[in-house]
Amino acid sequence: MSAGGVLVAGSANLDFVVRAPHVPALGETVLGHGFATFPGGKGANQAVACARAGGAATRMLLALGEDAHAAPVEASLRAAGVALEAVRVREQPTGAAFVCLADDAENAITVAPGANALLRPEHLPPLDGASHLLMQLEVPLDSVAAWARAARAAGVAVALNAAPARALPPRLLADCDLLLVNQGELAVLSGVEGVAAGMAMLDAPALVVTLGARGCCARVDGEWLLQPAFAVRAVDTTGAGDTFCGTLVAALARGLPFAQGLRRAAAASALACTRLGAQAGVPAQAEVERLLA
Ligand code: ATP
Repeated sequence: MSAGGVLVAGSANLDFVVRAPHVPALGETVLGHGFATFPGGKGANQAVACARAGGAATRMLLALGEDAHAAPVEASLRAAGVALEAVRVREQPTGAAFVCLADDAENAITVAPGANALLRPEHLPPLDGASHLLMQLEVPLDSVAAWARAARAAGVAVALNAAPARALPPRLLADCDLLLVNQGELAVLSGVEGVAAGMAMLDAPALVVTLGARGCCARVDGEWLLQPAFAVRAVDTTGAGDTFCGTLVAALARGLPFAQGLRRAAAASALACTRLGAQAGVPAQAEVERLLA
């Protein structure tokens, strides 16, 4: 297996966020009181987290439209140090998410996948220099499955954050070296309720279940690991899961033991909860080191 690099293959969006007194009911129009755009998409968020974690050269396969929304998405990735393998599409706009963020922290989100939906199996770039491929489920499932197969065949470790929640073909699951899910995703993937029961249904070599403010538990080659969350004053937990995934895979690509990777991921994701925005909230390596010290 080649050492050290991470290829993230997945979604990139521009998020349009309106703050409002409440999420509108069906047919209702609500006057908001703040608007901002943020680069987002699970793939791009995780690529930013992976690059900021340091120690692993990070590339990202993504699809962008030929429109003005592509530039801020690219700029955020480049600023974090992610090398881009960008597919340009004419047929669809850059992916966009429309977020209504209510004052009581409820939200309602509509995603227009746009260019993300056009990422095809043949878009996978050469895997040279990659030790890990990190994917999510915001791009076509047949592409994710084909990329996992190709990585497996090339001796590249396959990490899948099975989000958003959906059942997966057994072949794809069998190609995963590392599965990362939250509790809801675990229930959908395993078909049963409860963390222990759900984990018992899945036999990935490494399985990590994140439990929000309760931390995470993992089973790695049959060994159980528990990592409590770091206590912080959370203001926005959006992107905590993405920060966790990117940081963990960066640590593994650096060759750190799994337990150390979990601890770094817990620290980075806790810090991400203390600030607004998914990519903007990803902490720098030095901040993570301070929390770990
Ligand atoms: P999201 O979809 O909101 O990005 P998620 O549901 O995929 O998140 P979570 O299980 O909520 O993932 O959180 C991932 C990790 O982030 C947790 O395992 C934990 O380490 C950290 N985390 C989440 N919420 C908190 C919190 N309130 N305080 C400290 N750490 C947290």
